[in-house]
Parts: sequence; structure tokens; C-alpha cells
Amino acid sequence: MNNLRFQALQDAVSRRPQSFHNEQKKSTLFGSHVFTKKVMRTFLTKQAFIEVNEAIEKGTKIKRTVADHVAASMKDWAISMGATHYTHWFQPLTGATAEKHDAFFDFDSNGDSLEHFDGSQLVQQEPDASSFPSGGIRNTFEARGYTAWDPSSPAFIYGTTLCIPTIFVSYTGEALDNKTPLLRALNAVDNAATQVAKYFDKNVTHVDATLGWEQEYFLIDKALAASRPDIMLAGRTLVGHPPPKGQQLDDHYFGSIPSRAITFMRELEYECMLLGIPVKTRHNEVAPNQFELAPIFEEANLAVDHNALLMDIMGKVASKHHFKVLLHEKPFSGINGSGKHNNWSLSTSTGINLLSPGKTPMSNLQFLTFFITTIKAVHNYESLVRSSVASAGNDHRLGANEAPPAIMSIFIGSQLSAVLEDLEHVSKGKLSPKEKTDLKLNVVGKIPEILLDNTDRNRTSPFAFTGNKFEFRAVGSNQNCAIPMTVLNTIMAKQLMEFKSEVDALIKSKKLKKDDAIFNVLREYIKTTKNILFDGDGYSSAWEKEAARRGLSNLRKTPEALAVRVQNDIIALFEEMNVMNGVEQKARYEIQIEQYVQCIEIESLVLENIVNNQILPTAFKYQHMLVENVSGLKQIYGDTFSKHAPVAMSTIENISNLTDKLHAACETLAKERSKSNSMSKLDDRAQMYAKNVLPLFDTIREAVDGLELIVDDSTWPLAKYRELLFLR
Ligand code: ADP
Ligand code: MG
Repeated sequence: MNNLRFQALQDAVSRRPQSFHNEQKKSTLFGSHVFTKKVMRTFLTKQAFIEVNEAIEKGTKIKRTVADHVAASMKDWAISMGATHYTHWFQPLTGATAEKHDAFFDFDSNGDSLEHFDGSQLVQQEPDASSFPSGGIRNTFEARGYTAWDPSSPAFIYGTTLCIPTIFVSYTGEALDNKTPLLRALNAVDNAATQVAKYFDKNVTHVDATLGWEQEYFLIDKALAASRPDIMLAGRTLVGHPPPKGQQLDDHYFGSIPSRAITFMRELEYECMLLGIPVKTRHNEVAPNQFELAPIFEEANLAVDHNALLMDIMGKVASKHHFKVLLHEKPFSGINGSGKHNNWSLSTSTGINLLSPGKTPMSNLQFLTFFITTIKAVHNYESLVRSSVASAGNDHRLGANEAPPAIMSIFIGSQLSAVLEDLEHVSKGKLSPKEKTDLKLNVVGKIPEILLDNTDRNRTSPFAFTGNKFEFRAVGSNQNCAIPMTVLNTIMAKQLMEFKSEVDALIKSKKLKKDDAIFNVLREYIKTTKNILFDGDGYSSAWEKEAARRGLSNLRKTPEALAVRVQNDIIALFEEMNVMNGVEQKARYEIQIEQYVQCIEIESLVLENIVNNQILPTAFKYQHMLVENVSGLKQIYGDTFSKHAPVAMSTIENISNLTDKLHAACETLAKERSKSNSMSKLDDRAQMYAKNVLPLFDTIREAVDGLELIVDDSTWPLAKYRELLFLR
């Protein structure tokens, strides 16, 4: 039978789990393909090691002679591990990762072959960058781009290639990637948080942001996925009727993992271990064939790299196991989408988690300081936080059922709310000794107990405090964490700086003691940020109304969300924090808007192809069969034939209605698409795609899904939801 779906089904049904054996203990595997500090200690001279270490810890410059030495050692190590090539590994604004491999192999001046890799190749490279998106930066400055070594993320070997994490910047210094602004934001939050942490402990020298992501994904049989142009080209299904059994039974969540999937996961985890990605948790998610993988949290820069790397190797390992990984935020209509929770906190050089309460009242005041400043930061920049997770894919998830809404709010739980209420009533100015004792004993002192018991977790909140970290849940499964992390750490840096100057001003002008001043500033923060706190059901329509009343933004679609990034106050914020200049911000805005338009444009073309080349011909073929049936009946029964063919007759008519509708909707789609494309301004184009093109997808889908329900199953060309989701 010439039907790809049935060949695919046969392939998928006959699959056996691939074998995967590995006897090594996880702890010996971990990081064995990484140029870690431990490896450096053996391969580098003592002086070189000290210099590189300083560069890692403090961002100091590495001397050229040292770079040569590091490069030589890296090369020796990599070759001893079987590597033949090296690449600068970076994260251009496409959101994916990029690499260009060069062999170590070279000729010396005598023409003899050798393996070569020196400091200049380690430190800087010039990839042919003309085809990476630059949002006009390169045109404006006519500058070329280069990649530069980021020593704070260690080099690693993947396959036979030494990968050197780098940033990607233009010759005029503008960042052309997602990493450079992230590093600047991390630097800003480090400086600001260190200043504030010093109120509580003078020994703190720096503060790291930490990130623990949780990656959700779907696993689909590779052959079945290949039978669907929408999955292959758009990463999601554009048509498909939901199966009679979906996720209603909740029997997949935390259920036993299917054996084919588990073998894939074991190999994926093995690869992660070699690369030093500390994967720890795996489990089924809510939807059938949906899973999650989460590592132990790390310093944010490294965690961002590790997530980007993971998304890349997931696809490679999956392919070996005849799976396709779907990272799209909403691959199936009517079935849960995928997110990537970003667990975030701040950690001091003295090993303290600043969002975790300690044993003493003072350390709990420190906790409250960072806890409340985070609330204040998100409160002040809620629309920017929303815009940090804007993408065409995530639009299908945010605001849809069972996903954190497009409205940003913070969940802190009833007990911490009670603590804030108590703090709100501390007196202005100097606190009386009684008040202080009372606060210390009965409010601040009780926090650790409270948090032990902080179990009333709210799953519907986009930004939730979960005991010792905030969990930003609106991030999409397919996104690079660098963007939300850049935003979060930048607004936090800004808020901490403001906090510091307010506290210092009170100490100076009102002669308040340090903790009195801190209590005073926190009290005002609590009073002014109530709007952002919400402990109720974030999915309810009541909340939408309430949020509007509170004046919170509800930016449902990417174009409106992205517009926030080019507001004057936002441009000024990133400039002030030295994270991005105006040109860099506008470039990113343009690129993301363009990606949005392109995504919907591609989807609409794919949809049209599916309808014209697969659905309509199939529907007509089946209709023709029915027509033959009816004309056969007419031969037998003569004029009374219609009595004997009511079902066939009505189905023929149904098919005509649906195919007419489909055809008309596709024509409108093409018309609206070209109307949108004729807009010269990108913003207008994006608005029109959102308003006029995208809604037609639903009309088309409805007709296709209607046909799916009546057309002979044995001729239907696309793998059905039940096959994609329930085949194990
Ligand atoms: P769950 O939310 O599933 O109950 P946990 O609360 O233990 O699980 O952790 C969820 C995620 O939060 C994990 O990926 C973990 O690495 C991360 N995490 C834990 N502590 C921190 C922290 N201080 N900073 C950043 N991420 C953290
Ligand atoms: Mg979570």
C-alpha cells in the first residue's frame, strides 16, 4: 500500500527497545568529557592554572602566552580523548546553538602534517556570520562578527569534537548572541547582590545566580513523525482529531516509564553525564508520551549552556532510538503543552542560598530582603518578564488551559503572606526594643518552620516561591533560558541597587540602625507590591478580570509582548545595567518579531500543502467510492435507491460541505498571508499574522478533523493522534 502512514505504523509497531549498556558508575562518568578544573590542574602549569581560574572566577583577562599554553593543553587532552576537530560553540540569536568544525590537522612550514591548535584559535574565531540573524546590527555598523572564548563555561568533547563555549559579538562590540547579555546581567546581579549581602556578612565577595531548569518534551516514533509534514516542518501537529482517550485518566503522570522510552533516557543521561550535565530526575508528564528531565541546579551561565546542549543531544540520541523529540510548546491540540520551569535563586561565595532562610534571625532578615526585593522587581517589570518568554510556540500554551497564563503574578503561599502582613505593620523610623524582639522571635524567627511546612503549592502560578527558590514556569520548552534569565537577573540587579541606596539613605539621613532601615524599606515594598501577589487559581476567568482590575498586563500574543522590549523605560533599564545598549535591544526585538512572522508563515504553507496534497485528494477518493456505491445501488433498486443509501448519501454531502469549506478557508489563508506580507513595517506584518492569518488555522483544522472522523481509516494519510501518542 502506498500510504506512508501504514508503512510507518508497521515500523513503529515492530520496534523493539534498542539496547543500551553501560556498567560505569555515574560518579566516575560525570564530567569525564569536560576540560574541568581537575583536568586543568594536571595539564596546566601552576601559574597558568591560577590565571585561568581567576578568569573564571573574576572575569580577568588571560595573557596571550597563557592562552597558548591552555590551548596546547586542551589540544593534548582532547586528542588523548579521541577528538580530531575543534569548534567554537555559541548561541546565535536563532535561539539554537551553532558550531563550525575545524580539524586539528595542519601542515607545518616544511609541509609536514601535524596537529595544531594555539591560543589565537582558542581565544577568537571568525565564523562566516553573514547568515546568522543580526537584526540590522551588522548592516548599521558594517561590522563582521567574531566568537570569543568564555572561560567561565568549560570546554567539552562531544563525539570527536572539542567544543569551546564562546560568545558571539560584532567588531564594534555589539552582542550578536544570547550569551553576552546573559553574562552582563549575571555580572550586574553579582555586583548588586554582593553589596546587599554585605549588610549581613562582610565576607561575601560575590554572588552567583543559580538556575535549575526542568525540561519537558514529547517522544514520538520517528517513522510516524516522518509521515506528518506538520511535525517534520513545524514541530507540531496542525491538524488531527483528539483521540477518544486523552489525558483525562491522568494515568500517565508519574506512571511507569515505557521501556523504549527508558532505554532512550538511559543513553541520554549517559551522554549528559559525560558532558558534566548533572541530570537527576526523569519522569512521565501529564500527557501521554510526555516526559520531563531535570538536572541538579548550577550557576546560571553553565546551566543555560547545559540546557542548550541538552536540547541538541536529545535529538541525536532520540534518532538512534527511532524517536523524534518534540520540544514545541504545544505539539498537540487538546493535550497538555510543554514548558521549561526555570528554578532561580542567588548563592553567595560563602555558600549561602539567599532565598533560603537560615538558623538565626539575622540570616532570616537576609532571606526576607532578597525574597521581598524579588517580588518588588517582578512587580515593577511584570510585562517585561512576560515578554521574556514570548514566542509563537509559547503563545499556544500561555493563556491556554493548564498552562501558566500570560498574566504575571507571584505565588508565595498563605504563611509567607502572613509574615509579610506582620512586617507591613512595623512602625516607621526606629523600631522599639519590644517590637524588635517580637519581630525577631515571632515573625522572622519562625520562618524556617513555616517553610518546612510550605506545602500548599499552587501549580497555576507563573512565578512561584517554592521554599528556597522562585520557579518561573512560563518559560517555553523550546526556548533558550538565556533570555528569561537575562531579564530576571537584570531587574533583580536594578532592584537590589535601589534597595541599597534607599537603606543607605535612611541610615545616613535618619540615623537609623542598619536593621531598622532594612525593615523600613521592606515595609514600603510590601505595601506597594500587593498587586502582583496572587494565590488563587491562575487558570480561571475570574483571575483574568481581577488582574485587569489590578492593572496587571495580559499580553496574550507575541507581538504585543515583544513591544515591551522597545519601550523607552525598558531600553533605559538595560542600558543603565550595562546589559544591552539600545541598538542591541532593538536588534533583538526585530529578530524575534521576524521569527514570529516566519514561524506562522511556514506553518500556514505547510497547512495548505497538507490540505491540497493529502486531505482533499483523500476525501475525494473516499467520496468517489461512496458515489460508486450509490450508483451501484441505483442499478439494483432503480428510482427507490435513495431509501437504501441514506448514510452514503449524507456522507457524500458532508464531504462536499467540508471540502468546500476547506478550499475556501485555504484561499482566504493565502490571501491574508500575502496581504500581511505586503506590509512594509515588520510590526504591522506581525500584527496582521496574529490577527488575520493565525485564526484561520482553527477553521481549517476543524474541517480537516471533521473529515478525519468520516473518511475511511485505511486511506487516511496522516498518523492519527492515538498512534502518535499511545504507541509505545
Ligand atoms: P520539585 O519542584 O519537582 O518538587 P525540587 O523543588 O527539589 O523539585 O527542585 C526542582 C528544581 O529546582 C530542580 O531542577 C533543582 O535543581 C532546582 N533547584 C533546587 N534548588 C535550587 C536553587 N537554589 N537554585 C536554582 N534551582 C534550584
Ligand atoms: Mg517544577
